[in-house]
Amino acid sequence: MSKMVTRCKKCILPATYPDIQFNEQGVCSYCLLPVEEKKPSEKDLKTKIDKIIQSYKGKGKYDVVVGLSGGKDSSYVAYYLRQEYGLKMLGVNFDNGYRSEYAIRNLEALVDKLEIDLVTIRPNKSFLKKLYAHFLRKQGEFCSVCNNMGYLLIASFIWNQRLSLGYSPLAVGGWSKKYEYQPGVSVTSMPYFFKYLSPELFEELIANPFMEEKVVRSYMRLNDPRQAHIDSKERKELGDHVMNFIQLPDYIRWDVRKMPQLLKEAVGWQQPPDTHDSHFDCTVFPIKEFFKFKRYGLTQETIKNSVMIREGMMTRAEALEMMSLEQTEEPKICHSFLEELGLSRDDVNEQAEWSR
Ligand SMILES: [Zn+2]
Repeated sequence: MSKMVTRCKKCILPATYPDIQFNEQGVCSYCLLPVEEKKPSEKDLKTKIDKIIQSYKGKGKYDVVVGLSGGKDSSYVAYYLRQEYGLKMLGVNFDNGYRSEYAIRNLEALVDKLEIDLVTIRPNKSFLKKLYAHFLRKQGEFCSVCNNMGYLLIASFIWNQRLSLGYSPLAVGGWSKKYEYQPGVSVTSMPYFFKYLSPELFEELIANPFMEEKVVRSYMRLNDPRQAHIDSKERKELGDHVMNFIQLPDYIRWDVRKMPQLLKEAVGWQQPPDTHDSHFDCTVFPIKEFFKFKRYGLTQETIKNSVMIREGMMTRAEALEMMSLEQTEEPKICHSFLEELGLSRDDVNEQAEWSR
């Protein structure tokens, strides 16, 4: 992208971002959104989460299920729950066949250090590859597969745990709506995933031994399952198949800038040099970011950093500097990944609208 790109004068969102508008001063519509009033206080939120955790603690073999990837957010969830509440955790790791070496090393160090029992779920790779190829052909992206599969696998797993434990354990995630949700270019929505999935692949998905058909059929109706947490309106729609689930960032201060150092000291967590600290857990994530950059002129970190500017956690100059880490060039792994999926570059639909 050349220097000609118009960017918001306050944050760094470019004019190529979907549905963005600028006022006369060059400030974008996201910066001009009214600040949420009547937010619950930190103290009230802490009281709330304390109450939720206490109601699940000591019920049986373990207190909570934590989805772990080796990335910083999920690692921080495990670290915090152990430090703050001394919980006994069962870790669940979704292996999509492309976990990075750093992610695996972090995951192993974390579970050893915090004495977490770990289950790794790995659907057979040929099925996952079919899904990735299908979405690249149709939508020019493939991350919606893991975003949705990972969630459905854990919801199915918890459903089965409920049957074997006699109670439904609490699941705790580290997804932060504030920093991770990317309006306009997000590929996390279930209706989006199921809209573009073929009937044949849907049949294959519910036939997978890790998937519970009833759970899938309940969750696929939800607009954004990440927000179907305890106390939410969406959760009520799930009826019997509901997962007792919270996102930790909804309750506590989520200081993404301090986490890497803290985790490094506490559990030997590491990130690869010269990269952003998010999503290095997957080796093919840069490919998605590259296609996003080609399509929308920005990557996930730019959206996240623009939020951090608005929150006063980062200066505009710092965010502009971090843009040098954006995936503007085709990553080396792209060619071999497409080849592995049986695709050529021309098969990737670079015109599709994401998030629609
Ligand atoms: Zn802005």
